[in-house]
Amino acid sequence: MKAIILLGAPGAGKGTAAERIRDAAGFMHVSTGDMLREAVKQSTILGGEAEGYMHRGELVPDKIIMRLVEGVLKDAPSHSEFMFDGFPRTIGQADLLDEVLAKRGTKLEHVIFLDAPQRVLMQRLTGRRICRACGANFHINNLPPRQPGICDRCGGELYQRPDDSEATIASRLQVYSQMTEGLIARYTQRGVLRRVDSSCGADQLAAEVLSVLKAAGAAD
Ligand code: ADP
Ligand code: ZN
Repeated sequence: MKAIILLGAPGAGKGTAAERIRDAAGFMHVSTGDMLREAVKQSTILGGEAEGYMHRGELVPDKIIMRLVEGVLKDAPSHSEFMFDGFPRTIGQADLLDEVLAKRGTKLEHVIFLDAPQRVLMQRLTGRRICRACGANFHINNLPPRQPGICDRCGGELYQRPDDSEATIASRLQVYSQMTEGLIARYTQRGVLRRVDSSCGADQLAAEVLSVLKAAGAAD
């Protein structure tokens, strides 16, 4: 039983890489951002609690995040291999993750740190478009859909996330850099951190992450 974490700034390519790696390596993709957006869309109690924070580009409190993640892990088949995307974001979340993984007997094998310069992150976030129906990621310049505004995969409508406005992006990037140093130090110390330069294209990034996992024996 194993788990990996995709760690990186907003715009570093976690979601895009995750989509491709999930299919290639059979991980169960656990994206707290996607789960939160779904909860908001479904107007659940949890969604209502999280919405304001997300809109402001702030972190959703750890308690709410853990309710989400514990729910997924509890329902997952015992042989599941997890790929966490956008989680953990705080030391508190990382502590809780250690606890729940230990309970399941699941080993945290690799933390893939997707690293890209600030200007790349900005350009990616402002041009990002997402399918309302299936959640696929596109970019108006880097990864344009065949037909503007329409998802290649399912024909759904593409939209821009409300937190992808320039003001909110700036605050998300700031929150990210404050919170991440501790996580990078923690996982470096444990010898599980693998850094990947993520300023390349989506396919190349996925290929590089997969080769890091293969070299380390996690994607067999
Ligand atoms: P990005 O990495 O591009 O910011 P996400 O989809 O991962 O996008 O997250 C969107 C928003 O959801 C975050 O700005 C934050 O408000 C909330 N969020 C997602 N995951 C977490 C988490 N693990 N802890 C706290 N807040 C989170
Ligand atoms: Zn779609």
